[in-house]
Amino acid sequence: MKNTVILISLGGTIASLPSSSGRAIAGALSGKELMEKLQIESDGPVEVITLFRKPSNAITTADLLQLRTLCIGLSQREDVAGLVVSQGTDTLEDTAYFLDTSLALPDTAVVVTGAQRVPYAPGSDAGPNLRDALKVAGSPQARGAGALVVFNEEIHAANSVRKLSSYQLNGFGSPGIGPMGFVDGGEVRLCKQLQRSNIIVPGEQLPRVDILPVAVDASPALLEAAVASGAKGLVIDAIGRGHIPPSWVEPLRSALNAGVPVVVTSSTHWGRVEEVYEYSGSLAEQVSMGAVKANHLNARKARLRLMCALSCKMPIDQSTFS
Ligand code: ASP
Repeated sequence: MKNTVILISLGGTIASLPSSSGRAIAGALSGKELMEKLQIESDGPVEVITLFRKPSNAITTADLLQLRTLCIGLSQREDVAGLVVSQGTDTLEDTAYFLDTSLALPDTAVVVTGAQRVPYAPGSDAGPNLRDALKVAGSPQARGAGALVVFNEEIHAANSVRKLSSYQLNGFGSPGIGPMGFVDGGEVRLCKQLQRSNIIVPGEQLPRVDILPVAVDASPALLEAAVASGAKGLVIDAIGRGHIPPSWVEPLRSALNAGVPVVVTSSTHWGRVEEVYEYSGSLAEQVSMGAVKANHLNARKARLRLMCALSCKMPIDQSTFS
C-alpha cells in the first residue's frame, strides 16, 4: 500500500533548541526528536531520516545533490507516497526549486517545509507546518506535481515561491501567482495546474554560478571580479524588464566572449524579463550579445537551474530557460 511518508530533516528553526544566550540553535534537534517533540498525528506511517542538523545558511550544493540522491532512492520503494524535507526557511526556496528542476518523480510527492518560529515558542508554526506537510505528502493529488512548499496552510509551487517575510508566520508567498492550493484542517486542496520546465539531471558537482545584483549606477567591478575569480556562469539580477547600467555592457560582452554563460533575471517580485526597450543596457542589447533570459524565474532559482545545466555539460541557450 502506497501510504508511507518519509520526513527528511535537514535542520533549521523548525528543529531548534535554545542556547544559553537565549538565541536559537537552528538544527539542534534530530528529525526523530522533532517528531517526538511536536507529537504529530499523521494519517499513515511516517519514517524519519536525519540527513543534516544545520541552519539553512550552511547547506551546500553538495548537500543538495546528496538530498536528491536520497529522494530518488526512497521514491523507488513501493510503499512510499511522499517525501517531506524540513529545513531552515532562509534557503528553503532554493532546496525546493533545486529538487523541482532536477527530479522527475511521477509517483511520489515532494514537499518542503520549515517554521518561522522556534518549536518551543508560544504559537510556533513548527507543528502545524509539519503536520500539513505530512498530509500533503500523503495525498495522491500531490504525486508527480513537482516540489511543493507547504507553509502557513498554503501549498506553493517551488518555481514561484519566495520567502517574503523574515519573521512572520505567513512568511512564504508566490507573488503574482498565489498559492497552488490550501490545507484546510484535514483537507488538502490543489486547485491549480502546475507549469514546470523540463527536468535537468545534474552531474556530480554543481559549478560556481554567481548572482550579480543591479542597483542605480552599480559598479561593474563585481561582474569583472566574478569572471576573473573563476565563476562558471553568471546570473544578473537586473532591474525591471532586465536592464543593466550602461557601464556593465562592455564587461558583460567580455564575459560572454570568454565563454561564461550569463542569465538575466528581474529583481522585481513578479513578471518576466522581456526585450521591450532599445538603449544601452537594455535586455535587447544583452540578448544580442548572447545573454539568456530567465523568463519568470528569480535569480536564486535561475542560478540553480544554470548550475544543473552546466554540471551536465548542456549547451546553455534560451531553451535552457523555456
Ligand atoms: N535561520 C534559520 C535557518 O534558515 C531560519 C529558519 O529556519 O527559519 O536555518
